[in-house]
Amino acid sequence: MAAFTVDQVAIGYSNTLIIDDLSVSIPEGKITTIIGPNGCGKSTLLKAVSRILKTKSGAVYLDGHAIHKLGTKEVARQMAILPQTAEAPSGLTVFELVSYGRFPHQNGFGSLKKEDYNYIEWAIEVTGLQEFKNRPIEALSGGQRQRVWIAMALAQDTKILILDEPTTYLDLAHQLDILLLLKRLNEEEGRTIVMVLHDLNHASRFSHYMIAMKDGALITEGTPEKVMTCSNLQSVFNIEASIATCPFSANPICFSYQLCQR
Ligand code: ADP
Repeated sequence: MAAFTVDQVAIGYSNTLIIDDLSVSIPEGKITTIIGPNGCGKSTLLKAVSRILKTKSGAVYLDGHAIHKLGTKEVARQMAILPQTAEAPSGLTVFELVSYGRFPHQNGFGSLKKEDYNYIEWAIEVTGLQEFKNRPIEALSGGQRQRVWIAMALAQDTKILILDEPTTYLDLAHQLDILLLLKRLNEEEGRTIVMVLHDLNHASRFSHYMIAMKDGALITEGTPEKVMTCSNLQSVFNIEASIATCPFSANPICFSYQLCQR
């Protein structure tokens, strides 16, 4: 079963086409990670999925419906998206920003109900932000801010979570905290997680499915065992990788690499 399907999409900016004729199905209830070099179109693809960008042709299908034909709230009740660069309006506190995640579930008057407060408190708790709850976003470190955005996406309580580089700005322990939280949400609640990660070893360790892109095209997709091979990493990143087995997940990891001769 697919959580959503990208069908023969072409996506770009003004007259420049970045992605042409890309099709991929995101497996439901799994963790999928998109990898690929800077500028290959990973964020552009996620922008089309989240409707920030309109596809020039093709479509993204959610439950069999073309996503651009669905209402904003309807989509937001099913998928939460954490973009790569997000700026909070100035003056907002952690609690206020996280509460924005409840927008798709509110009626026209916009007042928070008990259920909304429960989700907000839960999201703040699981992202370890309890002590910063009433602090303005400006008074947080980059890593803490990143966790506030993740909390906002969690408060949205969607079956699909899409995160563009969720571990940016985070130190090693906080990166693992977030990835373990996503793993838990996937295992315990069956949520579909789609993310872009630069750390190939995290991608391999935490994903059921990986999608490798280059120059706007899909190069290979499948399990970490299938994707994390020397020849794929050479094709995608132009690196000669030494592959070993992760002692924690038993999935392949790249323990060192060098640039291939150009
Ligand atoms: P990735 O997420 O893989 O690093 P992006 O999807 O951000 O790559 O970018 C893919 C290509 O699209 C790059 O060449 C980038 O310069 C271009 N691009 C990204 N955003 C814009 C924009 N707003 N306007 C024009 N070109 C853009």
